[in-house]
Amino acid sequence: MVAQANRHRQDISFIEESKESEMEKQNGKRVVILGGGVAGSTVAKYLQSCAHVTLVDPKEYFEITWASLRSMVEPSFAERTLINHRDYLTNGDLVTSPAVHMTETEVLTADGHRVGYDYLIIATGHADPVPKSRSERLHQYKQENEKIKSAQSILIVGGGPTGVELAGEIAVDFPDKKITLVHKGSRLLEFIGAKASDKTLKWLTSKNVVVKLGQSVDLNAIEDGDGHKMYRTSNGETIEADCHFLCIGKPLATAWLKETVLKNELDAQGRIKVDENLRVKGRTNIFAIGDITDIPELKQGFLAQQQAELIANNLKIVIEGRRECGIGTYKPHSALAIVSLGRKDAVAQFPFLTTIGRIPGFIKSGDLFVGKTRKQMGLN
Ligand SMILES: Cc1cc2nc3c(=O)[nH]c(=O)nc-3n(C[C@H](O)[C@H](O)[C@H](O)COP(=O)(O)OP(=O)(O)OC[C@H]3O[C@@H](n4cnc5c(N)ncnc54)[C@H](O)[C@@H]3O)c2cc1C
Repeated sequence: MVAQANRHRQDISFIEESKESEMEKQNGKRVVILGGGVAGSTVAKYLQSCAHVTLVDPKEYFEITWASLRSMVEPSFAERTLINHRDYLTNGDLVTSPAVHMTETEVLTADGHRVGYDYLIIATGHADPVPKSRSERLHQYKQENEKIKSAQSILIVGGGPTGVELAGEIAVDFPDKKITLVHKGSRLLEFIGAKASDKTLKWLTSKNVVVKLGQSVDLNAIEDGDGHKMYRTSNGETIEADCHFLCIGKPLATAWLKETVLKNELDAQGRIKVDENLRVKGRTNIFAIGDITDIPELKQGFLAQQQAELIANNLKIVIEGRRECGIGTYKPHSALAIVSLGRKDAVAQFPFLTTIGRIPGFIKSGDLFVGKTRKQMGLN
């Protein structure tokens, strides 16, 4: 009851504070969204009809991240997974430059734009230096595909979801390649349960992928061998391979906030502290969604989409002055993940079940949710 009453009070304060901001700026409703990834693009698409939306992103396109590894073995797959922001953001402004500073009222971008806001949504996810234009990114996938095709032996560094999915894609599409996967941790896919790790290890081994756990690779000490490269691991082992792919976690893209008015709202890991309305703690008109938040749950794209939809609905209610509608709150989800293993199989962690093979593969591994995601963005 107390929790409910508090929530109700918070909901009211959300509306009251936002009402004040709206009245202060009669022609306001300027919503600035930082980051055109899964969360930012989704919220931009939903809000463009009721607010003046400005999307700030270093690149000109939105990428369906969970389909990126298929594009390395089949570059034409990327034609549908790289979506120019302009294809879904038809009624908003676009600034293609990273945010480098912010104040209580505006955002500064690297190319010198100053963008004023009434509501700010921060969705900068992980720092991933990818090309600015869609055509350059398509070209990059073609190059990575050539690298795979021309190698006989491939080293994958990292046994999280990216390394495992890449190993699965290559093992299934190019069964003659010799693949070695080296992972620092004691088991693969440490973000989900140990059963899923064991099943994945068996699956990869059955596809002739050599998995080495509890070791790291020194990428500063690669030597030329007899027509191959020689990689050394922390255990002193030598691995021969023609090339390698680095599949380790990327840092959060929140370092730029450390010198801003939000510096005290970052936790020790650089995540932004949010309340149950996904507002940055202590702020009334600044929100954070997606991988950068401190919400205690797995960082997943489908959750980033749910957070984006929640924020879009809440802001619509506030902006359109529909006081009768309730402001939604966000509750952390329990672990649920599907990691694809090539084109037909996958390993899935559900709350009470871990399974591997064709059934989870049927859910994810065919088109990797590309059709569904495009539909959500209003595209066929
Ligand atoms: C290989 C792989 C497979 C995955 N598989 C799945 C899956 O099957 N299911 C699932 O639910 N999730 C999956 N995920 C996780 C999912 O991709 C992330 O949870 C999701 O992308 C998070 O969305 P986001 O919007 O928070 O961040 P991102 O999608 O990382 O987007 C961040 C955006 O912010 C931009 N940006 C960065 N810095 C700045 C700045 N300073 N100013 C402005 N913009 C900035 C970036 O350019 C980018 O566009 C997978 C991830 C990977 C890498």
